[in-house]
Order: sequence, then structure tokens, then C-alpha cells
Amino acid sequence: MFNTILIANRGEIACRVIETARAMGVRSVAVYSDADRAARHVEMADVAVHIGGPQPAESYLRGDVIIEAAKATGAQAIHPGYGFLSENPDFVEAVEAAGLTFVGPSAKAIRAMGLKDAAKALMQEAGVPVVPGYLGENQDAGHLAAEAETIGYPVLIKAVAGGGGKGMRLVEKPADFADALTSAKGEAKTAFGNDAVLIEKYIQQPRHIEFQVFGDGERAVHLYERDCSLQRRHQKVIEEAPAPGMTEEMRAAMGAAAVRAAETIGYKGAGTVEFIVDGSSGLRPDGFWFMEMNTRLQVEHPVTEAVTGVDLVEWQLRVASGEALPMAQEELHLNGHAFEARLYAEDVPKGFLPATGRLAHLVFPKGTRADTGVRSGDEISPHYDPMIAKLITHGPTRAVALQKLSAALEQTQVAGTVTNLGFLGALSRHEGFAGGDVDTGLIARDLERLVEAHAPRAQDIALAALAASGLLQPAENATGFSLWGPLNRQIVLRRDGEEIAVHLRSLSSVAHDVEVDGQIIEARQHGGHWILNGALASSVVVTEDLVTVFAGYGLEFEPVDPLDREMQGAGHASVIEAPMPGLLKALFAKAGQEVQAGDRLAVLEAMKMEHALLAPRDGVVAEVLASEGAQVEAGAALVRLADEEDAAA
Ligand code: ADP
Ligand code: ADP
Ligand code: MG
Repeated sequence: MFNTILIANRGEIACRVIETARAMGVRSVAVYSDADRAARHVEMADVAVHIGGPQPAESYLRGDVIIEAAKATGAQAIHPGYGFLSENPDFVEAVEAAGLTFVGPSAKAIRAMGLKDAAKALMQEAGVPVVPGYLGENQDAGHLAAEAETIGYPVLIKAVAGGGGKGMRLVEKPADFADALTSAKGEAKTAFGNDAVLIEKYIQQPRHIEFQVFGDGERAVHLYERDCSLQRRHQKVIEEAPAPGMTEEMRAAMGAAAVRAAETIGYKGAGTVEFIVDGSSGLRPDGFWFMEMNTRLQVEHPVTEAVTGVDLVEWQLRVASGEALPMAQEELHLNGHAFEARLYAEDVPKGFLPATGRLAHLVFPKGTRADTGVRSGDEISPHYDPMIAKLITHGPTRAVALQKLSAALEQTQVAGTVTNLGFLGALSRHEGFAGGDVDTGLIARDLERLVEAHAPRAQDIALAALAASGLLQPAENATGFSLWGPLNRQIVLRRDGEEIAVHLRSLSSVAHDVEVDGQIIEARQHGGHWILNGALASSVVVTEDLVTVFAGYGLEFEPVDPLDREMQGAGHASVIEAPMPGLLKALFAKAGQEVQAGDRLAVLEAMKMEHALLAPRDGVVAEVLASEGAQVEAGAALVRLADEEDAAA
């Protein structure tokens, strides 16, 4: 076994690997960028090496600098995590050329699966069922359209170099093909530097079922399946193991295909074989097709760990250091059911817009596995993906594991940034999902209901008002104001742009009557706890300018300073600003152009995603204040619309 490994990654996956290394008596070396100087993975590691600037290209993607760091710290192996350099065969070769071990497959195996078309061709040859389609040597638009016709609509255009759902377009009818092809190729070119595409039959009511495989370079085993059908825009949201409705017959067929895929390329280490499954008539052994293989540890690997009892990182380190596969297929068993939910800093109602911010308060429920790379006080920066944590629950049955997930989400406390917590909570209580009725279209179909905001209850507002007034603190020195009679005050809170007036009547430091919308809430302190109308109050935190009540997945209120109120509402609806730092990929606005509310004015690429910036109202473009290709800061003015009076004149 190695005595020291370097982890060429950051965030939760770096922390995850460090934990197992420590448990195995292996020293860990972290690497970090300028943005991550005080990050959790740096604190956890035994040694940490600074490798460069905040942009991935200046640090986490610099293979040469990382290899130097490994040599300098005496590491014998490099664990790549996922993302960054994990599926880069040139990096694997450089690691090996430096006399170090890459914890993962060979460069050759990564190359075999690197491009979706070549991987599909290889799998077809090996007898693994693949989605019917065209594997694209001829990239002529007319030819591709004809191929789509032969396959039969609907079809999916996919970038052969694709990943993370990018460069992919669903085309329902021939008339839409040409436009979809142009935009898929454009996206593929910028994201992967390769605009080649393949065309696939679009599977109706698709389910995404993948198999965890593990190889020693010759033989492989599978560690059962994961169902990742709960997706939005082809990205996974909640994953589970095993797949609901899986039959022994189908599992045997899919497991054998996954193992064959891994053995065909002499796979070493942990990998995932992804299949698309036709869910329209139940799970049938002839209704699954190979989609791609991810030659790395996957984000959702913890659900597999929960149901098999295997520590996949431990297996990775053991096999990389030369040990045989730790278990044979017959020794691997399924135990119960597990879920994973991905908690992100993102604004779900605004189209899952990634968010940034300081996590003023972050608490995970006791007894739940929470894989995270951040702590209270840490920043979600714009440089990396905005994942906060993964919550993993396990139970003897699917119903119990799901109930635990739902409870864990309810008990998770995040303040300081907008998150998808409420959305995950709504999903965990979705009836179709609870019934095991999953397909990749579930979220889109029920989006409206899943993002529905619930009005805060009167007691939550009362609690926020008390917290904003500083009345929840144990107040040793303020016991006496009942001597002067009840104290009255008015508090204004803002939530979702609306102002809520609350009237407080303090009877003593431990008794207040709070009037919200004509209703009186009696707040009384007993034994150090606040009781509101007879019920124990929720937790609440007050940060610089926000009060967060931990009910309904976190309710934020902004106390309004009466002096500041005039300042509000002046309205910046005329200036379109960058919501976060990023690269201005496209600018569609031209001075003098007439636009309508909702028109796309620009595209900003930030946090690995593209964001369309829309016109906030009808009007005329007065000025374009930035240029295409520019790196812009958050809040930078990009486009200004003419004032309505000017426009009318
Ligand atoms: P796959 O869809 O291939 O299974 P994973 O979900 O395992 O992919 O994630 C693959 C990579 O994409 C990881 O590097 C992860 O950091 C990144 N990723 C996943 N989801 C997001 C997201 N919402 N925003 C940005 N990056 C993401
Ligand atoms: P990526 O490399 O971006 O992860 P995948 O090929 O794994 O790309 O596809 C991502 C997602 O797109 C899948 O999880 C699935 O939801 C959907 N998808 C892919 N291929 C098909 C298909 N042929 N029919 C229907 N949905 C598909
Ligand atoms: Mg995939």
C-alpha cells in the first residue's frame, strides 16, 4: 500500500478521498488554488500544496504542476477524483512517466471510452446492446439529416466528446433538425473543442440506469445498479440504488453487459457503465442500451457504498497498489435501499441559476451521511461548480430510505445563499417518485409544482421579527422592563419583494405578543426554549442583513431599516447586469434594436453553465456596454435599455 497519495481535486470529492486514506493509514496531500486557500480539503489533508490561480486552467487542470507537487511531497500515487483531470489520458501517461501511480484505469482504457461514437462502436462489437443510431464519420449536415430520417424521429443529437449534458439536443421533427444541429455543434465546439456529433434514437420515457463496475485490469465485477432518472437538463438530481422495479432477470442481463464492457477494455479501478432504459412498458431484459462509460469514480458512488457496504475509495487504493479485486461477484450482496440528493447553491425558480455567496450557517442532520467540501462560513465561489453537499440515506426498504431522505432535507440548515433544498424536499415527497414511477422527464413535467413557494406561517414571521429585534437572546440584564409596562414596537420584514409589518408587544424579556396579519402569536420562554402558541419554535439564525428561520427548508427575511426604505424600488430594470462573474459568450443586443420582455440579450458562461440574460421589459437598446468574449465581474452592466420616456420621445 502507498504511504502517501496526492488528491488532484477539490471540494467534497477531495475530502471524501482524504477520509478513506486517513482510515487506511495513508498520508494525504491536497492541492489548492488561490480561491481554496482555506478550503475544507486543505484543512483535512496532512500536507497541502498551492498550485495556482482560481481558474481551473491555472490550477486544478495543470497536470505538470500537480505531478511536481506529488514528487516534492513524496506521494507515490495520484487520485484524480471526478471532473478536472480524471478522464484525461495524457495526464495518466504523464503521471506514469513520472514514476507515479494513477489511481484509475489505463490511458488506453480512458481513450477507448473517451468519445461516445468510438465507445459505442466498440461496445457493439463486444455484443453490448447500444442505442440505435448513426455513429457519424460523415458530418455533412444533409447526410446527418438523412440519417436522422432513417433512424426515425424523435432523435437525439449528441456531441461525441460530450459530458455533463452539453452539446445534446432532442429533435422532435425533421423541420427542427438543421437548427438543432447548428446549436449542438456550436456548444460542442466551445465546450470540448470538437464539434463532431452522433445521432441516436430518442428513447421514450427513458430511465437512466447505470452499473458500478470494478476491474483489476483483466477481470471485473459489478456492484449493482443505480437509478439516476431524476434529472433536470440531463443532469442528475437524486440518485438511488437499487433501481425501483428491477427484476433479477434484467439485473443479470445488464450486469453481464456492464462487466463485458469493462473487461473488453481491460478496465482497472472504479467505473460506471451508463445505460438508457425504455421504461414505457416496465423493465425488460431486451429494453436497455449502452450509452457511455464514465472511467472514474462517480459523484453518486455513495449510494452503492450504502447498499453494498464497500468503501469504493478503499478498493481504488488497494487495486491501484497492486492488490487483487477485494471480492468476487458471488460475495457481493445488496442490502436495503439508498438515496443521494445533491444540494446546490442555485436558484431553482430562476431556471436553476447557479448562485454564489458565503454560507453563513451550514448544519447537516446528525446521523446522516453528508459528503461536503464546505463548512459554515465558507464561500461558494463562482470558479467551481456550486455543489454544497450530497446527503445520503440508507434504510432496509425504499420507503424507509426515502422517508429518511425527506427528514434529512427538512433538518438541513443553510443560510447565506439560495439553495435547491426546498426543491429536493418537494421531490422527496413527490407521489410518483415515492411510487417508484421514475423517468428522466419527471422533473420537467411537474416542475411548476416542485418549485412552488409556500407562504411562511404566521409563527415563522413572528419568530423572524423577534430574532430581528434581538429579543431571542437570553437577556440576563433586561428582565425588568415589565416595571415600566409593556413595550411596543413595529418591525418591517421584506420577503420576496413584499413587506410584512409585524407588531411586537413585549411583556417581559421572556414573554412577547406578536401580531402578524391580525393574528396574535404568544411567544414565551420556558427552560431556555422559545414556545410560540404552545409549539417549540424553529431554529433561527441572524446574519449581517438576513434572518433565516429553519422551517420550510429555510425562510429568509430581510429586516427593513425604516431610513433606507426610500432607497428601494428605484428600479434597475433598464440595465442588464451580469448575475455572476463569467465569460460573455454571446451578445445579441445592438444599440437601437427594439426588444421585448424575455428576449435573449446575451449569454454568460459561468460555473460551467450557460445563462441566457433576458430583457426585463419591452424597450429599445440604448447602449451595449460590454463586448463578446469579455470576462465580466458580477454586477457589471452589460446592456442598457432606453428609459421609457426617452423611448417614447
Ligand atoms: P455524469 O452525468 O457523467 O454521471 P456526474 O454527475 O458524475 O456526471 O458529474 C460529472 C462531472 O460534472 C463532475 O465533474 C461534476 O463536478 C460535474 N457536474 C455535475 N453536475 C453539475 C452541475 N450541476 N453544475 C456543474 N457541474 C456539474
Ligand atoms: P453525458 O456525457 O452528458 O452524461 P449521456 O450520453 O450520458 O451524456 O446522456 C445524458 C442524459 O441524457 C442521460 O442520462 C439521459 O437522461 C439522456 N439521454 C441520453 N441518451 C438518450 C437517448 N438515446 N434517449 C433518451 N434520453 C437520452
Ligand atoms: Mg452520462
